[in-house]
Amino acid sequence: MIANVLVELANRNVDKCFSYNVPKDFSNAIKVGIRVRVPFGKMTLEGFVLEIVENSNLDIQKLKDIKEIIDTDVILNDELLALGKYVKNRTLSTLISAYQTMLPKALKAQNKTNINKSYDKFIELNIAKDEILNYKFNDKQKAIIERVLTGKVLKDNLKEISLSSLNTLLNKKILRESLEEKYRYNIKEANNYKKVELNAEQKEAKERILSDLEKEHTYLLYGVTGSGKTEVYMDVIEAFISLGKSAIVLVPEISLTPQMVERFSQRFKTDVALLHSRLSDGEKYDEYRKIARGEVHIVIGARSAIFAPLKNIGVIIIDEEHTSTYKQENNPKYNAIDIAIERCKYHRAQLVLGSATPSLESFTKAVVKKYELIELKKRANKMSLPVVSIVDMNKESKKGSYFSLELKSEIEKCLANKEQIILLLNRRGYASFVTCSNCGYVSKCPNCDITLTYHKSSDMERCHYCGFAAKKKEVCPNCKEKSIKQLGVGTERIEEELNRLFNARVIRMDLDTTSTKGAHEKIISAFRNFQYDILLGTQMIAKGLDFPGVTLVGVINADTQLMIPNFRSSEYTFQLLSQVAGRSGRGEKPGKVIIQTFNSDHYAIKLAKEHNYLEFFKREMKIRKELNYPPYCYIVSIKVISKDYDLAKKESYSIAIKLKENLKSTVVLGPSIGSTFMINKTYRFGIILKYKKEDNLYPYLEKVLAYYLSNDKIKIDIDFNPINS
Ligand code: ADP
Ligand code: ZN
Repeated sequence: MIANVLVELANRNVDKCFSYNVPKDFSNAIKVGIRVRVPFGKMTLEGFVLEIVENSNLDIQKLKDIKEIIDTDVILNDELLALGKYVKNRTLSTLISAYQTMLPKALKAQNKTNINKSYDKFIELNIAKDEILNYKFNDKQKAIIERVLTGKVLKDNLKEISLSSLNTLLNKKILRESLEEKYRYNIKEANNYKKVELNAEQKEAKERILSDLEKEHTYLLYGVTGSGKTEVYMDVIEAFISLGKSAIVLVPEISLTPQMVERFSQRFKTDVALLHSRLSDGEKYDEYRKIARGEVHIVIGARSAIFAPLKNIGVIIIDEEHTSTYKQENNPKYNAIDIAIERCKYHRAQLVLGSATPSLESFTKAVVKKYELIELKKRANKMSLPVVSIVDMNKESKKGSYFSLELKSEIEKCLANKEQIILLLNRRGYASFVTCSNCGYVSKCPNCDITLTYHKSSDMERCHYCGFAAKKKEVCPNCKEKSIKQLGVGTERIEEELNRLFNARVIRMDLDTTSTKGAHEKIISAFRNFQYDILLGTQMIAKGLDFPGVTLVGVINADTQLMIPNFRSSEYTFQLLSQVAGRSGRGEKPGKVIIQTFNSDHYAIKLAKEHNYLEFFKREMKIRKELNYPPYCYIVSIKVISKDYDLAKKESYSIAIKLKENLKSTVVLGPSIGSTFMINKTYRFGIILKYKKEDNLYPYLEKVLAYYLSNDKIKIDIDFNPINS
């Protein structure tokens, strides 16, 4: 018997199966989809068994033996095995990296992982009850025996009586120890569940999603913020569970949506598993096994939860479907929506993409009827959408202040009424760049071609790309004058200003204040419990949070994203402003939103003020058409990366020329150097492909990859439908 094994090395050269002989002892235990340990050159590696064959024309004598079988249960079932191949083909990644990305750390093929199951130790009787009379016990021993007489007891509870007596009884084999697997994480059961009756719009949405279960459909649930999408999701899931099916719910990031999780646990109790980026590796392993064993029907998680080994999936829900985090930025650069579509085909399941501001790509698919559009036009609690006003910061009389007169007076009013405020500034740190007012010198990262951000709390200049940090400069390294200034504004400086200007309790939420486990949840619940008046933060506060006490949302500077050269900048600005505006007035009192900007005429800002997604879609589509950008075409970004500048440059030019020759229906742009030209001391030249239909694309790009396969000075990075270029 021969097993074909895909080993753990991520190198493209070894991304194929190697054949091993299966020793007789293993012939019962060997299965497709488990991990084994195999000799590989001088190393021992782990790998996945992808195939088992009885005979082959290979010379069995020459094959090495499998050393060890790691798993008893299959890790990659047939569906997941096929899904990995789909990921590889779609992203041109290696097959091994596709499988590795699908699995939690404990189940990856990695010789070094050391994450074990966790067990509870129990003590039980090892003799028949009537034999007890044959023994003589002291008092402590008696107490122990009494406890176990009716069944097994946690060892820890008996230790408290007397460890030495317990050990004596164990040694005499009167008692025995048994191990039981335990889960390190269990969702907190919540009880205060109030069932809401769906309104007419919501009911219609639910019925549409359940209307045809014979085949798979993709529904775009386009509903304004607060229209009750989450209630629809839960009702739909309940219906599928009653049909014996299961559900995956993807959210942008769990720690930012604790309320969503809470609502699910109120309604579905412990039928929910969470795949949470902040769970420990052991906890993730336990949640994963719970899912694989079919012990829960619902999985909630971020992007990678799309690979959860649920069986019999009835529905996959992707909330805030426009969010860029559904696209993985490392290899394999997959998009969770594509994976969801593929899984829905396999399970004949329904896919629901929910958003108040769908991505242009998704809404276009709804327009051309590839997706089915379902609309929720009204807020569920009958509140109207908040009133938004735009403040033109060019016209502010008191130049240099971060707060307009209007925002300042609204903040004061709110504080006086004991109402809460959310302030958004999508830039962390204290000052966004450090410059010399004498010679114009700008402080840049030595590893990356990026300006450094000044952080006051640590008094350091930091690179937000590679983490480089240096002490604040007092003297300009260029002209030696003492004229260094920190310009631009980040959340840290606004926090300082708020404390200076207002008598308010301020809490800041950005990457710097949320680096520890549970930090998000703590901030969110403290603000929800009115321990703070003002929540200040970056875009992480804009996502689905529901704070009934908030009546004012202020955007300190709506222009941060517009300054970034990316064809999606307007779309991202519109989405962010709409989303953060939706945080206002979710309780009893109506909400207000103030957007400060230097671009008050920009359509993304004006239309966000009017909550007019459809008009934004029209305007933006016109521009995309004129400039030939998605959704009017597809984009591939190719990066030619090397530590050697000249080599990267030379090879990128030669690749671009060959692409032009070979891809006749494709526009080839570049090579060019972008805003992230140098990162971590490596240079990257970018080539952009734009095409509508190009049959030769995948085969040709595979050729390019193969050509550089053995060249370890050059790395080729390919990103289909990139988010950031
Ligand atoms: P979305 O996910 O679209 O932002 P939610 O599902 O969070 O909206 O609903 C917003 C608020 O309205 C929540 O507090 C929710 O409990 C409430 N809500 C939703 N549907 C109804 C309904 N049919 N009747 C009463 N309240 C509802
Ligand atoms: Zn850097």
